[in-house]
Amino acid sequence: MVSGDRRDILERERDVALARIQAVTTELEDIVTSSEASNADDEHDPEGSTIAFERAQVGTLLLAAQTYLEDVDQALIRLDTGRYARCEECGDEIGAERLDARPAARTCLQCAGPTHSPRTPASSKPPKALKPPRR
Ligand SMILES: [Zn+2]
Repeated sequence: MVSGDRRDILERERDVALARIQAVTTELEDIVTSSEASNADDEHDPEGSTIAFERAQVGTLLLAAQTYLEDVDQALIRLDTGRYARCEECGDEIGAERLDARPAARTCLQCAGPTHSPRTPASSKPPKALKPPRR
């Protein structure tokens, strides 16, 4: 693995994430501005629910973009400290294929995937109080 390539990819991902946050923030501001404008001259506000829906949607996009930026930043830190491509859950190496698809992946496919199932069947799950502490 050439770490320089990974860094290039991550820095590009970072730019993409920053641009997305910028775009979504602008969109959110537009929605807020237009909703304020429409509220000012229309008490009935027939578009109120639509605006609320749009705001919620864009807010979700913004949160996702911010979370992604955080993931990319964490990945860059891991690259600096030599812990990149190590799964945060099990410590195994994260496959190159997964890193190609998700350069900021924190966990291996096994730990992140929907196939990741608990060792104990649901019926014999221990009560919450006995849950082992997080590492
Ligand atoms: Zn793992």
